[in-house]
Amino acid sequence: MLGLPRLQIDPGVDQIKKSEGEEMKKSDVSKQVCQACEENHVQAVLKSTHERHPYKVCQNCLFNLVNHRLTRVQFKNLLKNGHKEEEFMLHSDFYDERGKALQPTRIRS
Ligand SMILES: [Zn+2]
Repeated sequence: MLGLPRLQIDPGVDQIKKSEGEEMKKSDVSKQVCQACEENHVQAVLKSTHERHPYKVCQNCLFNLVNHRLTRVQFKNLLKNGHKEEEFMLHSDFYDERGKALQPTRIRS
């Protein structure tokens, strides 16, 4: 493992969708590249408010996404990869227009 802090997901956030069938099978997704860092392979699929356009991210970016602490690069890449600032996870309450995290969840180590 990468020694990441334990993943914390707010109860209010949609749960990670694990291959509940539909058009995406896990094997298909895992060959894709993370929408946020564009480096790692997809390790998680998180439903977004846009039903048809889930977040497909690696473990590391998932952690930042759910804790509202994406880096500017991750934020920009998500927008570039089809996500919208109106989506809850990328909302302007959480990030300014440059993608600076405004309300990052404090991580207790
Ligand atoms: Zn990533």
